[in-house]
Amino acid sequence: MSLRAFDVVVIGGGPGGYAAAIRAAQLKMKVMLIDDRKAEDGKPAPGGTCLNVGCVPSKALLDSSKHYHHIEHEFSAHGISVKGASIDVGKMIERKNGVVKQLNGGLLQLFKANKIEFINGRGRLLADRQVEVSTDDGKETVQGKHVILAAGSVPFTIPGVDIDGDHIVDNVGALSFTQTPKKLGIIGAGVIGLEMGSVWKRLGSEVTLFEAMDTFLSVVDPDVSRAAAKAFKNQGLDIQLGTKVKQAKVNRSKVKVTYLDGDKEKEATFDKLLVAVGRRAASDNLLAEDSGVKLTDRGQVEVNAHCQTSISGVWAIGDLVRGPMLAHKASEEGIAVAEAIAGQAAHFGLDTVPWVIYTDPEIAWVGKTEQTLKQEGVEYRSGSFPFAATGRGLAMGDAVGHVKLLADAETDRLLGAQIIGPHASELIAECVVTMEFAGSSEDLARIIHAHPTLSEAVHEAALAVDGRAIHKAN
Ligand code: FAD
Ligand code: NAD
Repeated sequence: MSLRAFDVVVIGGGPGGYAAAIRAAQLKMKVMLIDDRKAEDGKPAPGGTCLNVGCVPSKALLDSSKHYHHIEHEFSAHGISVKGASIDVGKMIERKNGVVKQLNGGLLQLFKANKIEFINGRGRLLADRQVEVSTDDGKETVQGKHVILAAGSVPFTIPGVDIDGDHIVDNVGALSFTQTPKKLGIIGAGVIGLEMGSVWKRLGSEVTLFEAMDTFLSVVDPDVSRAAAKAFKNQGLDIQLGTKVKQAKVNRSKVKVTYLDGDKEKEATFDKLLVAVGRRAASDNLLAEDSGVKLTDRGQVEVNAHCQTSISGVWAIGDLVRGPMLAHKASEEGIAVAEAIAGQAAHFGLDTVPWVIYTDPEIAWVGKTEQTLKQEGVEYRSGSFPFAATGRGLAMGDAVGHVKLLADAETDRLLGAQIIGPHASELIAECVVTMEFAGSSEDLARIIHAHPTLSEAVHEAALAVDGRAIHKAN
């Protein structure tokens, strides 16, 4: 019997895989999309890590906890007093689950509307672009003219710390605590540690983060990491730099953590422990031995700049390959691959992928930092502007942080932007657009920004590159 054939078979239905499938279907290709994730009720849960146990649920909890925190700590400054505010953690989690479920359903409808054959099962790449599909009903092998691998990532674990999903958890567990842990320990002061630490701190947990590195948030500009460290300290997050957890044991519903602080061995006890020490490509059981697809020594699928693997017609995108592990990076790669398959000139700007950490203050950046420019020997000029000098920031009562822009000293081309402060996640988009259009700080400085808005801080930072900011001494 001949195999069922598709123009494109996509393995993995996260933001990378589903965006690739939808774009390929828009381009009139016959598409099969395979995703193995099921919701608690056994129904398909497309959307990957991002929708189910990542971006979306974490932002839902960040928003809920922020509302509560504002009632408790911010409203009184506006003359608003609220008596007897309380938080129903169960209801908050239920709301978050509802948001996820709604979006799962939305995706299934989109697959139908685009005539994508969606399979809730596992895919494994065989030789010659054939894919073995395993579902609850059995196995089938299908033939792809093209196969897109989009299996995403899974959390790293550390020896001596076993995730039990109850007391010792990864991101999945930390998004579903049924009550606020009195004491929460977090291994890793990275993006997940800071976001989830913020959620539970705002709801009343005592939060301690163990971070192996001696420097805090070393991926961002030092000005930003200093401002962030200060803000988080003021919020009561206890960030222990240069500490390494050796072991965690659960005993009588408590987690005892043994860690090294320098060369001193110490102990601490928590109600819950979150392990957030990074993620690795989910390449296990994805490729048959004779598939021919090469992996890197880090277990990522090896790809070129166009997401082509070592086998012609097999592509790989998102967390499974090199580059930042971000949902929008995965989606844009997926779209670019679908367009390349259709013979279009696809564009994907790996150098202008924006990053956002959704803490309070938010932290966002794109392009180069001062460290990288110095390392690369690039001459640059920088300009920064504090939100405390913006009318809007002060009017909102949210004026912590600043915008910093870096421009090439000779050409003035914008090379990087770092923002810490209110709505940094939205403000960074203007900097990304400027960089994608090869714009300069002068371009940003000449563009009219509405008053009073937070975007005026971006405008003023652009003026400051040339020493001519209006609302601060240059
Ligand atoms: P995934 O989203 O991981 O999707 C892959 C899917 O494929 C999964 O459903 C998996 O079960 C399935 N799969 C794997 N193997 C197979 C197989 N063999 N057969 C069938 N299906 C398979 N990024 C942001 O940009 N913004 C954020 O705010 C953000 N917040 C995050 C918060 C948390 C707590 C976490 C953990 C991550 C967050 N991320 C965020 C990162 C983001 O989730 C990932 O970068 C993104 O999901 C990667 O997309 P992907 O399509 O490559 O893979
Ligand atoms: P991360 O790489 O951001 O942070 C991990 C931290 O753990 C690092 O600071 C690292 O030095 C530290 N660490 C590593 N091993 C350690 C150990 N043994 N003991 C103590 N500290 C240790 O990783 P993450 O927070 O797990 O998040 C994974 C990825 O998910 C992120 O890199 C990001 O790509 C994605 N994500 C993105 C967002 C967002 O875009 N807002 C949110 C959450 C997650």
